[in-house]
Amino acid sequence: MLSGLMMDQSLTITAILRHALRFHPRARIVSRQGDGSIHEYTYADFGRRVHQLANALVRLGVKPGDRVGTLAWNGYRHLEIYYAVSCIGAVCHTMNPRLFHEQLAYIANDAEDTHLFFDLSFAGLVETLSHEFTTVQGYVALCSAEEMPESGIDGLMCYEDLIGGEADSFDWPDLDERSASALCYTSGTTGNPKGVLYNHRSTILHGLAVSGGDWLSIRARDAVLPVVPMFHANAWGIPYAALMNGARLVLPGHAMDGASLTELLEREGVTLMAGVPTVWLELLRHLRETGKRLDKVERMMVGGAAAPLAMVRAFEEEHDIRVVHGWGMTELSPVGTLGALKGDEITLPAEDRYRIQCYQGRPLFGVDIRLMADDGTILPHDGEAVGVLQVRGPWVAGGYFKGAAPEQFTEDGWFSTGDLAAIDAEGYLHITDRTKDVIKSGGEWISSIDLENIAVGHPDVAEVACIAIAHSKWGERPMLCVVAREGADFDPATLMAMYDGHVASWWKPDHIELVDSLPYTATGKLSKLTLRQKFAGLTLPTDN
Ligand code: AMP
Repeated sequence: MLSGLMMDQSLTITAILRHALRFHPRARIVSRQGDGSIHEYTYADFGRRVHQLANALVRLGVKPGDRVGTLAWNGYRHLEIYYAVSCIGAVCHTMNPRLFHEQLAYIANDAEDTHLFFDLSFAGLVETLSHEFTTVQGYVALCSAEEMPESGIDGLMCYEDLIGGEADSFDWPDLDERSASALCYTSGTTGNPKGVLYNHRSTILHGLAVSGGDWLSIRARDAVLPVVPMFHANAWGIPYAALMNGARLVLPGHAMDGASLTELLEREGVTLMAGVPTVWLELLRHLRETGKRLDKVERMMVGGAAAPLAMVRAFEEEHDIRVVHGWGMTELSPVGTLGALKGDEITLPAEDRYRIQCYQGRPLFGVDIRLMADDGTILPHDGEAVGVLQVRGPWVAGGYFKGAAPEQFTEDGWFSTGDLAAIDAEGYLHITDRTKDVIKSGGEWISSIDLENIAVGHPDVAEVACIAIAHSKWGERPMLCVVAREGADFDPATLMAMYDGHVASWWKPDHIELVDSLPYTATGKLSKLTLRQKFAGLTLPTDN
């Protein structure tokens, strides 16, 4: 072999930090704080504090490989922890505060967190759980000395005091790019949560990929607002990608309601925002109610659940915002596919474009995807064949922390996602269901996601979930659980009529059930398991 002669530089998060501080010192990081006020500072200020925190972590005894837990919203202190912890060679373990107490205790103990940094709003939660945490040696409240809460936690430290006296320079270690940098647990509907252990290399490659022109296209002149939480799948990599590119990072704290978001979007002239459909539907409702228009936002990334057609259309037609719909998982750092139209698709009539935008996008370079049938055969990418989606790539988990759930990793090197999908000839992914949520009627699959997306387009429907109900003839049939819009006089027949001509007649739901609210999991996904359990004994009107 003739070796190339290029420099062998490690791909590390430290390199992002150095680049950001050296070439974008004036770029800003803007955060909404717990009391609603805005905090802002420059990358240069951020860097000084990251150095101080690194010194403090070493003084606390945090060693390379140690896991440092966080329970925090999207804010500047959380970002400082992201960088300082990973760059000293330790592992930033973000925890989702919306999980059940037992799950949080399990996660912190399984990760063997040595320290826990938390936002004041979680002080009570942490105090309760501190009796269950078996490995945490030190707790740090993310606040100033004046804000320190009354707490029964032994030796609780104050973040600002902790870093205040430290030097603002730090001699970063040379890290192996394959060393672990961050940890995030993902919880399925059954079994214990599983840890996804990222490394520096996967984080850099993912950050570079999502920044790309066809994807999020992050530029130094952008102001980027991730509504997706930093405790869930690295806020889709934006905390890294924004700093790689010198963009302004706008962090919304816990305030994700329509009014707070609109205010922040307008104040900062945000050009790119990222979040799940439920947040955007709430924002849309607020914008319509107040008659406000988002003038500066150019692009929005939607993922975590399927983007409904009505939403894609509304943001484009009412706000001139291009919706970039993506699919990902915690196990994929998390982005796997994103939807950017190809040259000849841009000129298509609007409705055809929206239809393509409702697919879950195409693989980023670096992610490979395939479909596996029940019998182990690989299915064609013809837009018709539906199978279990499998993925591989340098930012895809090759195994879970401590070897959990090995059955999700195939012998030939793929990760089996548990999502059912079709892939068309252009490479667009159509997610039809989670394998656990699938509806099988007379041996044929019906896509609950497709049925839900049509239903969300009804003006009187606020939320909807489609589940399988046992049927004596067909095995299972679809039923819709609908939350009607407040004050609306919802007529189920008008919703039924919307399916005509849009899906095969045997796909039409057998029943529409009005409910007050829908159950969600801690990661904000509809809990269809809970709904299925609730309606397990129901006999459909078509079943006699
Ligand atoms: P998580 O690891 O919590 O981010 O959840 C990942 C799961 O969310 C995926 O396996 C999908 O089931 C679902 N998901 C993510 N993005 C989408 C999308 N655009 N459309 C439909 N489902 C999605």
